[in-house]
Amino acid sequence: MSVSDNHNAVKGRFAPSPSGRMHLGNVFTALVSWLSAKSRGGKWLLRIEDLDPQRSKIEYARLIEDDLRWLGLEWDEGGLDDKGGPGPYSQSLRGDIYCHALDRLKDMRLTYPCRCTRADIMATQAPHESDGRIIYQGTCRPAARPPFQPVAVTKPCATRLYVPDKEIQFTDGVFGCQSVNLTAHCGDFVLQRADGAWAYQLAVVVDDALMGVTEVVRGCDLLLSTAQQLYLYDLLDYSPPRYIHLPLLSNPAGQRLSKRDMSLSMQELRRRFNPEELIGRLAGMARIKDDYEPCTPNSLLSVFDVDRLPKQTAIIVDD
Ligand code: GLU
Repeated sequence: MSVSDNHNAVKGRFAPSPSGRMHLGNVFTALVSWLSAKSRGGKWLLRIEDLDPQRSKIEYARLIEDDLRWLGLEWDEGGLDDKGGPGPYSQSLRGDIYCHALDRLKDMRLTYPCRCTRADIMATQAPHESDGRIIYQGTCRPAARPPFQPVAVTKPCATRLYVPDKEIQFTDGVFGCQSVNLTAHCGDFVLQRADGAWAYQLAVVVDDALMGVTEVVRGCDLLLSTAQQLYLYDLLDYSPPRYIHLPLLSNPAGQRLSKRDMSLSMQELRRRFNPEELIGRLAGMARIKDDYEPCTPNSLLSVFDVDRLPKQTAIIVDD
């Protein structure tokens, strides 16, 4: 497989993790990414991000597909049956491809084996860093600077990527100019876990690049990890996509939506609304149009304007 030859064609994607039914926030992401690609004559692909074998379930992937079709958001490429492309489009089936990318990074001598457990790493975290983000302090990093000498390992180890102490700058389509120092943000990060599981950061970059994705639309909880991904794009010599991060939606109590929020899960939403009502409300809330009247995704193609998307969390009025 090679990086897409056609650099002018717009290709967006939706990359859900099948660890639960979609909620309104996922639908918002899917709708905006579909509109952004389709309003410019592009293609839209569906990738199943099932890297986590404990949490991913094929039943959820089937429900995600069913919910997208119910909403009128059909994909041109991908999904469980690898529609319209070389595939596979499920990350659990792409291990050989990630292995090849990892080998390239190992050949650059920028990686090293890491024996630290999660508990070891948490023990070295300063209290103010305990917001769930792990900043690796470099316990297993070789003393000399890269290129690192290969190290023989006797038991399974994670593989970490060296990050330089420099700012990564990028412009987000909604949140504007960003500057992230990788050392301060995450430190050397994991590419493959000791149990062989592939890290999201590596998989997402390899997949978006090899699938020819030109535009990534997703929730702003991933805004800063874009810097890690851009570092990988650079090392692997792929051309990066444009990024559009969306504000996270809140439930009526002002809390961020999660898959546990049943009232806004597709199961409940499909019971209460028809597809046009749901799309109309979401489009009004996201300022894609000026009212909340029922409509189809297709009818929004001519009015969609990325510059009108809000930066603030949109609060759902649950009436
Ligand atoms: N799989 C991730 C999720 O469902 C999205 C990752 C991405 O869009 O880059 O939250």
